[in-house]
Amino acid sequence: MKYANIIVDITNENVDKIFHYLVPECLKDKIRLGMRVFVPFGYGNRIIEGYVIGFSDYTDIEESRIKEIASIPEDYSIFSENMIHLAKYIADRYYCTKCLAFQCIMPKIVANKLERYIYINYEKEDILSHIDNLMSQNNDRAKIINYLLKNPDITVARIKKELNIKDSPIKTLEKNNIIKIGFKRQIREAITKEKYIKTSSFKLNNEQQQALDFINSEPKKPVLLFGVTGAGKTEVYMQVIENVINKGKQAIVLVPEISLTPQTVERFVGRFGDMVSVTHSRLSDGQRFDQWQRAKDGDISIMIGARSAIFTPFDNLGIVIIDEEHEISYKSETTPKYDTREVAIELCKQTGATLVLGSATPSVDSYYKARSGDYHLVSIKNRINNRLPNIEIVDMREELKNNNKSIFSKDLYNAIKENLDKNLQTILFLNRRGHSTFVSCRACGYVMECENCNVNYTYHSKRNKLICHYCNSEKDVPNICPSCSSKYIRYFGVGTQKIEEEVAKHFPEARVLRMDIDATSKKNSHEKILEQFREHKADILIGTQMIAKGLDFPKVSLVGVLACDIILNSGDYKSSEYTFSLLTQVAGRAGRAEVEGKVFLQTYMPEHYSIVCARNNDYLSFYKREIEERKQGFYPPFSNIFFIVLSGKDEEKVFESIKYLHSILIYYNQRTNFFITDVAKADIYKLKNEYRYKIYIKAEDETRLKNFVMYCIKILKEKKDMKNIYINISLNPNYMQ
Ligand code: ADP
Ligand code: ZN
Ligand code: ZN
Repeated sequence: MKYANIIVDITNENVDKIFHYLVPECLKDKIRLGMRVFVPFGYGNRIIEGYVIGFSDYTDIEESRIKEIASIPEDYSIFSENMIHLAKYIADRYYCTKCLAFQCIMPKIVANKLERYIYINYEKEDILSHIDNLMSQNNDRAKIINYLLKNPDITVARIKKELNIKDSPIKTLEKNNIIKIGFKRQIREAITKEKYIKTSSFKLNNEQQQALDFINSEPKKPVLLFGVTGAGKTEVYMQVIENVINKGKQAIVLVPEISLTPQTVERFVGRFGDMVSVTHSRLSDGQRFDQWQRAKDGDISIMIGARSAIFTPFDNLGIVIIDEEHEISYKSETTPKYDTREVAIELCKQTGATLVLGSATPSVDSYYKARSGDYHLVSIKNRINNRLPNIEIVDMREELKNNNKSIFSKDLYNAIKENLDKNLQTILFLNRRGHSTFVSCRACGYVMECENCNVNYTYHSKRNKLICHYCNSEKDVPNICPSCSSKYIRYFGVGTQKIEEEVAKHFPEARVLRMDIDATSKKNSHEKILEQFREHKADILIGTQMIAKGLDFPKVSLVGVLACDIILNSGDYKSSEYTFSLLTQVAGRAGRAEVEGKVFLQTYMPEHYSIVCARNNDYLSFYKREIEERKQGFYPPFSNIFFIVLSGKDEEKVFESIKYLHSILIYYNQRTNFFITDVAKADIYKLKNEYRYKIYIKAEDETRLKNFVMYCIKILKEKKDMKNIYINISLNPNYMQ
């Protein structure tokens, strides 16, 4: 550890990188990862703060230009041991540098926001008589003193505004020592609303109470809390947290980013007041950094947030709650590609905190772990208000037979019409995964499937080919259905905008809102659309999975899922799981309050178990069938899938390198016999001017697989010039792209 890798504390895009500093002899024994240090910076060698995020034995910087760390401040710890442990775990488990792991676990460092405050200088001799003297005058200086006597805690900017005065009277008072100006750190608040309605605990029902008691007994293994939407899980979480707080410990509550609405935060703030903070990607860097510091300083005890809130630096963590644990967003899609659930398990192991994973539709993986004893399983079977919407499956093949080629089945069309007449609201739901789409027969529902892999082919419009995401085999798009010879075999690919047009055509009187990535790209537009819909400024909301989660609109009595098959046929081994959980969630949007809810699931595969089980609200049957499919196909949790992507600007070099890696893998696989695909273009083949090629490897034993891959990559790096070629590895990714 000759050099320390240091991030400096300056808010400037250009210095948002890592600098190497020489570690002086006298500090060699003291310096640690995660430490706050002082370093000289820039031409003037101004001394500024920095954070040690790693060490190196070599540097690219010329010897003569490298600087030394100046000193270590008194309170030098910034990362707790736990956080450092977590960063190391991430670097090791998700194959990234320690440096990236450290950057991942801490928010971007932003200089503290300081505000100028103005005070009466009570230390001055005879200050009171000075004040009396001033007050008898009728000028700005008297006004200032008068105001300060009534409002002792005020910023310079504020007093100037309130009294409509300039700097000069303040300066004069300061010069005469009557007032003092000082700097005070200003917290950049994350929760802006000032008033919350205070709530208190509900008396729990039996199932809730059992769940609470069990979690309060501090089980060592993670607890999977399985309970339908509306079962009262959040109420249980809050009472668990209350118990944790009473023991002087802290809580982290994770919810998916899209569920992190003001309403969600409001529930927790309503119960716990200013003990609560929140962190998510829509906050500014300054806001996020301040919340992180407040947690570290012990100013808050409950952090609510999306994925990255797992890195909240509490010093006595009591509980971590991961709500909607099945959500794919808990797995990061950027390096390091960590799985928040795994990180949480590690964190809880390290700190002794309890971990609760909650869901109405647990991930197949988590439920499998609960069944095999890795997790405890706690169920809440009944809903608080015991009402489920009426769900109907609509067979779209029948519609075609009856010569209805529109995107609305007759039943759904009539239901929308009726809802409009009754002045009730409707949600129309469509989900598409990226650009990919599949080919199916509208007459019989047949879907083109890969013979090798038991998953659907994905249609790639640019090349007009069918491609399997697993073995990378290709096929031409057929003109007639191989099963029933109908000519209505085609790729599926209606977008939300197309639906908006169709709605306008069929229901010209309806007021329509659309919510998808395009409609929500502007800041706060997401909340604005929902607000408008809640206030009943629209009759129909059209949207993607963004509208599936947790929303609670009392006047929505109808939900139409236009094409269940789109997610189902996405060509992913998890597509049934995604379909089941999404349909269950979407259906839960209907009839939340007084009005009876109705849900239509339009599909060309009405017999598919994921759709039937969603209709019957039957997770267990779904799970039993799905786990069997996974076993048959040798997919997780029975195997692990390694996904390797090589990328770079020089396409030929990327291709050559991955071909070479492939030959190494094949050579060494003679002994191991893992399943290795051919080299293929990645689904997103060109990204930011870089070309991407991929390989998958599948095996049962994760450690053996990892060692195998790492060994082969090491050989690749030794044998080939890998300059400007990036190796990207992920384990069991959400999507096989
Ligand atoms: P979940 O998180 O499982 O979807 P919630 O905790 O949001 O369920 O509960 C659903 C609704 O029932 C909420 O409005 C909540 O305030 C209410 N609720 C929860 N528990 C109770 C209880 N024991 N008694 C009365 N109402 C409750
Ligand atoms: Zn295949
Ligand atoms: Zn057919």
